[in-house]
Parts: sequence; structure tokens; C-alpha cells
Amino acid sequence: MIVEKGEFKELKQDGGGIFKAIHASSTLEYGPNEVKTGTPINLYIMTNGILGDVILGKKIYMSFESVKEATAIDGKLILDFIENGIDNQIVFRIKNSNELNKVYNSIRQYCNLGYKEIEINYPTENIESIIPQKSKRQEEKERLKQLKKDHAPYCPKCHSISIHYIEKRKRLSMGRTIVGGAVGSLVNPLGTAAGAMMGGLTSNKMKKGKVKCLNCGHTWKL
Ligand SMILES: [Zn+2]
Repeated sequence: MIVEKGEFKELKQDGGGIFKAIHASSTLEYGPNEVKTGTPINLYIMTNGILGDVILGKKIYMSFESVKEATAIDGKLILDFIENGIDNQIVFRIKNSNELNKVYNSIRQYCNLGYKEIEINYPTENIESIIPQKSKRQEEKERLKQLKKDHAPYCPKCHSISIHYIEKRKRLSMGRTIVGGAVGSLVNPLGTAAGAMMGGLTSNKMKKGKVKCLNCGHTWKL
């Protein structure tokens, strides 16, 4: 696990050099006694293994064969590995989720562990906000059920009961008056045609009989 500087240099070269490696900035969360918790470590996934470079400090190396499991959860990379026949564990904290993702996936690939999605632990406050949303949806479902039972009219789009029946004659005459007035004052030769068109459209609509939702504005045929 802890390697000498000379050996580390060789491993770096054999592994294709750090510029070709997959890199993540990490801090040690749990690991060998020789490295303090919280120490910044540059993590490199090379072709020959995993290298951890503590600047001006100890160097870490793990072969892919020694890694038995890799887990990524909550900004942490957990590696279970075997050292001198004994089960061991090292945990790196990687803040950048993109870096964590890349390092994690490449380790799983190199170690032949297969694909596994990163585990996400939602903070407790998030879980609490998800639960009321579910019960709200349930409430809405039950309300709708009751409306159907009562044969109460409601908007098919938003299920609001604030709906407005559009009266045929009133809307028709109002529309004509407004359009007519506008045409007269603007003296627009196209206005008459537009007015007739609008009038026609309105009366067509009215023949079918419409209802308008006062909540979302959706209109539908009766
Ligand atoms: Zn509506």
C-alpha cells in the first residue's frame, strides 16, 4: 500500500504517466496509519493500478488485482482490498462528482467488477419532502374520486371545480360589439373581414357550448 518514492516514480511511468491517467482530487477519509485523515491525495487511475500521491508525503499504490470491491456513495470512494492476505479498506473523499464518477467507473472496469451505479443517500430532509408529495398526490386522487361520485362538474385538465359556463348570446353580441367598434375607430379596410371572421369563429364556438376553467383557463365542450 505505502510505497517508496523511487518505486512510485517507476509505477507512474509504467502506468502510462499521470497525464494520461484518470485523476481525482481527494482527501483521505479512512486508510493506512501512515497517512493522516483529511490529507489531500491526488488519485490517479493508471493502466497498472491505483496511485495516491500525497504531495511532499507518502505515496500509495494498489494493484487492480488486490481490489475486491469499489463503492461510491455520498462523495466517497470506498475500496475493499487485500494486503498481505488481510482484508483492508481505504476511503477517499472526492467532492467533485464528475471526478468521482470517472474514477469509480474506471476502477470497476480495470478490476473487472462490472458496472454498478453510484449509490446516492438522500439527506433526511429530502426524504421528508418526498413523502408529503406522495400523500398530496394520494389526496388529489381521493378528491377526484369523490367528485366523480358526486357527479360534480370539474376541469378535466386541472380538476378545479371553479368553472364557468360560457353563455351563447351574451358572448356572441359582446364579441360583435367590440370587434365592430374597433373596426370603426381604426378605419381599417381589413378590419371588416377580420371582424366577420372573428364573429364567425365566436358563433361557431358558441353553437357547440363551452365551459371554461377559471383556474387554468382550459375550455372544453359540454
Ligand atoms: Zn382547469
